[in-house]
Amino acid sequence: MTFSDDEIERYARHLVLAEVGGPGQQRLKAARVGLIGLGGVGAPAALYLAAAGVGTLRLIDDDAAALSNLQRQIAFDTNDVGRPKVEAAAEALSALNPHVRIEPVAERLTGANAGRLVAGCDVVIDGTDDFATRFAVNAACVAAGVPLVSGALGRWSGQVGVFAGRPCYRCLVPAVPPEAETCARVGVVGALAGVVGSMAALEAIKWIVGAGASLTGRLLIYNGLAGTARTVGVAADPTCPVCA
Ligand SMILES: [Zn+2]
Repeated sequence: MTFSDDEIERYARHLVLAEVGGPGQQRLKAARVGLIGLGGVGAPAALYLAAAGVGTLRLIDDDAAALSNLQRQIAFDTNDVGRPKVEAAAEALSALNPHVRIEPVAERLTGANAGRLVAGCDVVIDGTDDFATRFAVNAACVAAGVPLVSGALGRWSGQVGVFAGRPCYRCLVPAVPPEAETCARVGVVGALAGVVGSMAALEAIKWIVGAGASLTGRLLIYNGLAGTARTVGVAADPTCPVCA
């Protein structure tokens, strides 16, 4: 796989990085990343992954862009309101980087189709905010051996973790919390979505190029209001129904 002159200039700041360089950029170009949900986490993550030169992005979302999304989902603009998110995002990402192949999937991920939707991905980023979907993504990723980058946010804080085999996301969240919070209910600052989406994209890039210490088995918790962050370990649950 060789790079065109356009790509060499486009990725110049990656190519001079010791941890990426030519070999890492080749790995990015050869990689397929699946994005589950083009919301507060998925939309900014998709922009950075496209800009980074990830060869194939599989976009999985059955929603249409809404006016209330634009405060944080910066892959969409005012003219996209009412359009299917995968269609609008495909245009925006292709405009940002025409070298990226987009696989738009206008389906809602369920337990029934999750295996098919994550198949062939090198990394999956889950930014959805309902636990049934998160559990289905996790189970499919564990079964397929695909690493899962999980991002979540609400109000002023967010978290990112990477799950590759055991412990899995279900070890962290064994059951649906009784009072599950969604951004629609509790609110979220738009810039925080950018922080969490960017951290998710960064973990995917690190995984693909093999750089640094992955957040595997750890959770980075960012409190934007306090301006603090901490990282906690995730213990493997001996009774986990997915990975034990
Ligand atoms: Zn588990």
